[in-house]
This record gives sequence, structure tokens and C-alpha cells, in this order.
Amino acid sequence: MEKNYSLMSVGTFKGDLAEKGRVMAGTELGLTGCEVSLNCTPAGRFTPFVHTHKLNEEVYIVISGNGKFMVDDDEFAIQEGSVIRVAPAGKRAIKAEEEDLTYICIQSQAGSLTQATNDDGVISDAKASWM
Ligand code: ZN
Repeated sequence: MEKNYSLMSVGTFKGDLAEKGRVMAGTELGLTGCEVSLNCTPAGRFTPFVHTHKLNEEVYIVISGNGKFMVDDDEFAIQEGSVIRVAPAGKRAIKAEEEDLTYICIQSQAGSLTQATNDDGVISDAKASWM
């Protein structure tokens, strides 16, 4: 029977991911509804281009560090705990400031979510070993 999950690890965010820079998880996990990248931009570095998307919105979730984010005419500070949604047409760029900036970016087709947890989740009779 095919398993109902896939599992991967990028190692530690501050050690292993910092060496790799970026890991795209979609192919390895077999994602079918979104793409996920795990990123660590070294202090003072930045993605050397501004980009938009044709169809996908993105959510950036900052895990650690600090930086700056640009969307269209706005630039603002980001740090651990910042969560930014960018619409497909938003012209975006990201920069690490004094600390390495570790963040997760999730992209999915804008408008494709037709339901969410409260409507989609179903409580199961199954029990985990710790229950
Ligand atoms: Zn993007």
C-alpha cells in the first residue's frame, strides 16, 4: 500500500540549510497543491533580482534572523515571526540584514483554495501511541 505521507529533512536551519542556501521540497515530497522552498540567505546578501509570478501567490514565513522585504513601492523590516503574503503581480525582493535570514516560502495558485481546515478536517477514530 502506498504510504499517505512523505518525509524529508534539510538538517538544521542554521547549519545545514545555511550551507545549501535553498532547498525546494516539492519534488522530494511529491507535493501536488503547493511548492515549498526552505531558504537561508547569509547576512548582508540578497536575491539579485525582483520577481513576480504568473499564477502563484507566495507566503514567506521568517524562522530566524532579520532582513528587509520589498513589494512594489513598499519596503519593510522582517524578522523571526514575520509572515508575508504576496499576490502574483507583486514585485518582490528579499534581503538579509545583520543576521542570516532563514525563511520558508510556500507558493500556490492564487484563488485555488476552496476550503480550509475547519471545513476539510475530519476527526478519525485512530489513536497514536501516545494517546
Ligand atoms: Zn517567487
